[in-house]
Amino acid sequence: MIAILTMAVLTVAEVVPPTTLTIISGGRERRVPIRTDLGAGPVLPAGPLLMALNGTAASDGVWIDLTLGSRAYRFLLGAPIFTTGGRLHALAAPATVRRDSLFIPFQFVAELLPRLQAPRFHYDRGSARLTDLGPPATTAEPRTAAGAPSGMRETSLQRVHKVTIDPGHGGVDPGNPGLYFPKGVKEKHVTLQIGLLLARELEARGVEVDLTRTRDTLIDLRDRGGFCTSECDLFVSLHVNSLPRRRGYTSVRGFETYFLAEARTEDAVRVERMENEAVRFERPAESGEAGGALDFILKDLQLNEYLRESARVAELVQQHLDRPHPGENRGVKQAGFTVLTTARRPAVLVELGYATNREDARVMSRKASQEALARALADAVVAYLREYERKTDGR
Ligand SMILES: [Zn+2]
Repeated sequence: MIAILTMAVLTVAEVVPPTTLTIISGGRERRVPIRTDLGAGPVLPAGPLLMALNGTAASDGVWIDLTLGSRAYRFLLGAPIFTTGGRLHALAAPATVRRDSLFIPFQFVAELLPRLQAPRFHYDRGSARLTDLGPPATTAEPRTAAGAPSGMRETSLQRVHKVTIDPGHGGVDPGNPGLYFPKGVKEKHVTLQIGLLLARELEARGVEVDLTRTRDTLIDLRDRGGFCTSECDLFVSLHVNSLPRRRGYTSVRGFETYFLAEARTEDAVRVERMENEAVRFERPAESGEAGGALDFILKDLQLNEYLRESARVAELVQQHLDRPHPGENRGVKQAGFTVLTTARRPAVLVELGYATNREDARVMSRKASQEALARALADAVVAYLREYERKTDGR
């Protein structure tokens, strides 16, 4: 209703802003909500934008420094200007901080970014899509003929890293019943089997591994993340998805990787609820701890490195699982898993497939395909650790 009323007073030069911006970058598609209720015209949260474009942000409380597409932008908080390449530019509205989140004018993304970084960024008004075509191609093709094999394997890490593997559920908490798993096999068995195989694969690649469990025991969800503290570089929780009985539910299949955030989609909420269910098998929460903690961590992490790193790990996991997994690549998702909120390091939760789908169940429960999944997961982890090494060595 409000949108229709405002339309009448818009001048010809103005267009009703879309409600969502779709960003296509690195072969992935992300949606960022556009807000019009903050009083400064259409704005979008910088966090998801940076994540989609692999950008960074830093602030001294007066200026906000963003890098987008490897170009630096400085926004003066509360003023409708920014600088880049030594020049000052005007904005339709200022960059603002609301409840610990940075918002930048939608106009910046729709007009200025595509103009300042043409042809890398392109904005299509009709579909409200921002496409990142990536950095211009380098002159020389990477050498593949001489010596370096194509399809390089992820090996030769420079340092010793520690990764915590968390096979979901265990003990009195069976996880999901595993509709199409062999008789008696539940989610908790499959996560442990694949977790142990992943540990072996990682150790073979020179990575130190901690497992939250190596047997059929129950570990409190809130304690699992505690396995991954300062010494640990990454936390990987393994799970098996399932759907409640409904029309066509056995035909849904595929794998998805989550990193911590407030659950966004209906489906993410469902998976979050399902995986957090295990709490009912565990000791009661200390008073008032649960909800508040997520809020706090989210604020703390909004533009924080762990979140970005976690998103990157999730992306690599999806890329690598795509090869051995015959199911659908369901993409990177965000949800507020208790098990992830307690990790103080980059953390992801992998749903390896649907036990309510016959083929997925087969892939997850057969030894040979379990090994293939574990190899792909290990390659993804090592790919991440190599990126992490490159980044931190350059500091
Ligand atoms: Zn689970």
